[in-house]
Amino acid sequence: MHKILILGPQGSGKGTQAKRLAQKLGVPALSMGQLLRDEVATGSALGKEIDTVISKRGELVSDQIAMTVLMTRLHQPDCANGYILDGFPRMESQYDAFAATQTPTAVIVINVPKDVSLSRMQNRAVVEQRADDTPELMEKRLNIYHTLTIPVVERYRAQGVVHEISGLGSVEDVERAIDAAL
Ligand code: AMP
Repeated sequence: MHKILILGPQGSGKGTQAKRLAQKLGVPALSMGQLLRDEVATGSALGKEIDTVISKRGELVSDQIAMTVLMTRLHQPDCANGYILDGFPRMESQYDAFAATQTPTAVIVINVPKDVSLSRMQNRAVVEQRADDTPELMEKRLNIYHTLTIPVVERYRAQGVVHEISGLGSVEDVERAIDAAL
């Protein structure tokens, strides 16, 4: 069973690494941000509510919304042998809600300095045209990571499952470091 979380600031490459690891381990790669954007794309009432929070305000969706969307996905049959999840939990209240049913087998934290994070996000904004990749919202999301998500890392560290990886090399360098850590 592989229940692996990948945490890191925006632009740390966690989504890319989640996909590579998932392919190797034969479990699905899930991105909390992508699950939310998928819900927006359905045009549902919930999706509209999510869109207001993500695109217009650059804030985190409520824990209740995140947990509902996430747990619906985790109950799909393809998650029976585990999953690689990036971007969750992002704050301690989510940690608590998640811990009630899920115990990760490993937590990978990809570290990159703030300036690298920002310049990678700027590049992605050009390529992907994400509605929330404006300079102002990028800065805001980065600050959320540093104030709210670092305490989550500390909670997992206390369980002895955290592996800290530098996100500064090439995609292949980071991938090798993750493989070695696991
Ligand atoms: P990401 O693709 O990881 O950059 O996430 C994009 C956006 O989705 C974030 O800025 C949040 O608004 C929302 N989001 C992603 N993960 C979470 C989470 N764990 N809790 C609440 N909102 C989230």
